[in-house]
Amino acid sequence: MSAQSADIYFYGFKHEVTLKLLTLLHASSVLYTRPLANLIEQLQRLPGVGAKTAQRLSLHILKRPTEEVEALANALIQAKQQVGSCTICGHLSAEPICEICAHPSRDNSVICVVADSRDLIALEKTREYRGKYHVLGGLISPMDGISPEQLNIQSLVRRVSGNKVAEVIMAIAPSVEGETTTLYVGGLLRPFTKVTRIAFGIPMGGDLEYADEVTLAKAIEGRRELDF
Ligand SMILES: [Zn+2]
Repeated sequence: MSAQSADIYFYGFKHEVTLKLLTLLHASSVLYTRPLANLIEQLQRLPGVGAKTAQRLSLHILKRPTEEVEALANALIQAKQQVGSCTICGHLSAEPICEICAHPSRDNSVICVVADSRDLIALEKTREYRGKYHVLGGLISPMDGISPEQLNIQSLVRRVSGNKVAEVIMAIAPSVEGETTTLYVGGLLRPFTKVTRIAFGIPMGGDLEYADEVTLAKAIEGRRELDF
């Protein structure tokens, strides 16, 4: 009997079921009625959600009142429809200009450059930084086919060259891609302003998002000028 066969006995003697087929079965209507299988499949696409978690969440959702489930579904759709990027810094925003860029008392003369909005949020939580941000939207990575043109870099150069910016802080966690991006962006900005980088506390290959607030605050405090 081939593994592709539907001749499977869960309590029987057939052991020719491949793992792949089992996975398919789990997501199929053999175990779950079709709408439930679909829900599990969609949840499983989320990062960090495996088959077991997707099943648990799905069964939990089915037990909740209809209004609660509708509120969740609406929140998903509204967030997707309404949240875009700030036209100045690239941070997630429902308005054309985000709250940080629009904030009257934040220091316009310092721009902190981060890879993505998760890092910006992590730095904001330290409450140590009162300047502005610029979100690149990723890191330069030739291996993954990500070139500088695909990132929010030109708008940063325009922003720095066209305004009075005293300092740009490169707040990018050290990794091969992080170093490449820091040096590339730093090189473009250096004719216009002082470029510093966060110095210590962030482990190699680490994510800013996962660093604790004290470590991040220290990293900003200990920034140094970018040397080439
Ligand atoms: Zn902004």
